[in-house]
Amino acid sequence: MNKDRIELDGAEGGGQILRSALSLSMISGQPLRIINIRGRRSRPGLLRQHLTAVRAAAEICGATVEGAELGSRSLTFRPGAILGGDYRFAIGSAGSAVLVLQTLLPALLFADAPSSLAISGGTHNPLAPPADFIERTWLPLLRRMGARVDFELLRHGFMPAGGGELVVRVLPSELQPLHLMVAGAERSRSARALLTGVPGHVAERELERVRRHRGWSAANTKVVRLPEDQGPGNALLLDIECEHLTLVFCAFGQPGVSAERVAGQALQQADAWRTSGTAVDEHLADQLLLPIALAGGGSFTTPLLSDHLRSNRAVIEAFLPVRIDCQAHSAGGQHIRITPV
Ligand code: AMP
Repeated sequence: MNKDRIELDGAEGGGQILRSALSLSMISGQPLRIINIRGRRSRPGLLRQHLTAVRAAAEICGATVEGAELGSRSLTFRPGAILGGDYRFAIGSAGSAVLVLQTLLPALLFADAPSSLAISGGTHNPLAPPADFIERTWLPLLRRMGARVDFELLRHGFMPAGGGELVVRVLPSELQPLHLMVAGAERSRSARALLTGVPGHVAERELERVRRHRGWSAANTKVVRLPEDQGPGNALLLDIECEHLTLVFCAFGQPGVSAERVAGQALQQADAWRTSGTAVDEHLADQLLLPIALAGGGSFTTPLLSDHLRSNRAVIEAFLPVRIDCQAHSAGGQHIRITPV
């Protein structure tokens, strides 16, 4: 593979540009220079979650790095060989451990030996995939592609306390293409309200609002009370299990936002996906792009071309010999095709 340095401008996107670039630099062996990291975000540059991802990536592949400091807006990363092993990383804040996991896991599939990876930080953060989404949506699809990975959520970590922990065990694996044009027949719907350090009626009201929503009256609903030392926190998780995949939609309780409104936010996301008639929801779409590109090809339908999907496409095309086409799909939404060039 070409070992020329890849130069990226992160101004138009979020941490995903950095995370995908780190994964791809490790895997392809191409050095990386990235400027304007998270340039237009309200707190630009490297936050703790991003810095942990950089340091962890560097440790796993023996990279030399310049610019790995809190707040840094540019980074140079020269990777070495990916080494399997037992790794443990702590974000030191409620920053998302799940996003750090998503940076490292693809690379560990290409390592020389099995690995275990323990990451502490947030596991249920707004603006990041909740651990449940990784466990029931993203990882089952990676396993279908050939990834040999076990996942365990040891402790929940919510904003602002953090303190969650997750562990993955990864065997070197070869990825196969994935095609997901339709979700297939619906098998079940379920709703879980996670709760700790928050009055119990909050979870009951969230679930009551779900049961009153069209299509959800027959859903399995459950309050999951977590130990006090894992909170405070409240998340509502909606699972829709279909023939070809399970999707998990999420909303978080916040001071000043009613339980009914929180439930409404999760239901709105689930409705937007289900009525689109496409297979892959907005968030999963940008998170599937990298594994599918590493597999050398695949395709899926998704409701829209999000900013994350666009910026991730540009990063992937900069590193890998693949082309990512996005076209309006005849049945609605977008048809995404990843092909080797
Ligand atoms: P960034 O904003 O660049 O740090 O990227 C955030 C990542 O989190 C993207 O891959 C989003 O698709 C993902 N994400 C945000 N909210 C959710 C959610 N509710 N469920 C699943 N993934 C999410």
